[in-house]
Amino acid sequence: MADTKSTFIVRTGEVALKGMNKPYFEKKLLTRIRTALKQYDGIEAYRSEGLIFVKAPEQYPVREVEQEILRVFGVASVSHAVEVSSELEEIGRAAAEYMKKLIPERRIRTFKVEAKRADKTFPLQSPQIAREIGAYVLRANDGLRVNVHDPDCVLFVNVRREHSYVFADKVKGFGGLPLGTNGKGLILLSGGIDSPVAAWMMAKRGMMIEAVHFHSYPYTSERAREKVYELTGILAGYCGRIRVHSINLLEIQQAIGEHCPEEQMTILSRRFMMMLAERVARSHDCDMLITGESIGQVASQTVHGLVATDNAVQMPVMLPLIAMDKVDIMDLAQKIGTYEKSIEPYEDCCTVFLPKHPATRPVLARILESEALLDKEQLIASALETLETVGIDPDKN
Ligand code: ATP
Ligand code: MG
Repeated sequence: MADTKSTFIVRTGEVALKGMNKPYFEKKLLTRIRTALKQYDGIEAYRSEGLIFVKAPEQYPVREVEQEILRVFGVASVSHAVEVSSELEEIGRAAAEYMKKLIPERRIRTFKVEAKRADKTFPLQSPQIAREIGAYVLRANDGLRVNVHDPDCVLFVNVRREHSYVFADKVKGFGGLPLGTNGKGLILLSGGIDSPVAAWMMAKRGMMIEAVHFHSYPYTSERAREKVYELTGILAGYCGRIRVHSINLLEIQQAIGEHCPEEQMTILSRRFMMMLAERVARSHDCDMLITGESIGQVASQTVHGLVATDNAVQMPVMLPLIAMDKVDIMDLAQKIGTYEKSIEPYEDCCTVFLPKHPATRPVLARILESEALLDKEQLIASALETLETVGIDPDKN
């Protein structure tokens, strides 16, 4: 009766709302799901009548496979289901058995059946199916009662042409769009809490990610850079292998320190980071820059600070966290698994040269005057010579 494989129903959320392009997005999503599950032999993933189905050999733990599917962007929810042929008796028996297992696990006393008939040629309509299946379940499970208003458990029955499905859970995924459907962005990745979350949010909208990190070696340690690679490994768990470019900013920071007013240090460094990132982005086919800035969070992220930073480049800059509160960013960092790594205490290049009184209302004209005191092109060229690139694979822990 029940399949020897575990069956998962995958719902696609926003992808399902696409019009003409829907097949394109579905195909991409399917490819992403297959890639996410490639460590399991014998897994099948296919589309059928508007849903995606995944079948895994029974030896693989259901929750583990489910977790892998849930990490894929574009997945709205997943249900682990029992698959049976589309005959009322078969469905009824499967539903009764399914509940029998669930009752002690979840201490269920009341339930209701919610039926959906995708196959309109099926002889019964949805409310009738629900009633009939409910009767099967009741007959097989003494003491269980129906409660349509506030049941302990909702048993879903999905009747389709080929097969029907019985399940009790719809576990929510992240939603979003499949990776690779929306260009490529270059994240300015520090070792902090915000930038990994910013990268993740753009990836969730289908954007491929590449990263650039600035260090001030030997003022910042090799371990600080390792930490950034480790953070990238966590992100790669969602995006696949990520290329990280690292650039030494020290010479630029020293030049700013020598020639420009101290309170402008942070803004001027940030402008150089943006200019360098733009060069890297152009030579690696990235369409946009991404930063983890959030309005008002620190001195350099006041509106005036952001205006002065953004003005340094031509390329569009995405700031996905711009209107988020720090606590909400921290919550998201916890949820995606970067938080614990981000709070490990390692020095950042910005903190090495932190001014005592950073400018919170920088006037762009003054900033540009200071910048003009520096040999910008030479500094940029020299910094780019320090560029090192590594590819970081998903961290599987
Ligand atoms: P984060 O938690 O991402 O470090 P933050 O709150 O510490 O952010 P800032 O240090 O002002 O903020 O940096 C703002 C943004 O600039 C970061 O989110 C990141 O995108 C970029 N950035 C800062 N420092 C670096 C760095 N060393 N390398 C690459 N990008 C950086
Ligand atoms: Mg930082």
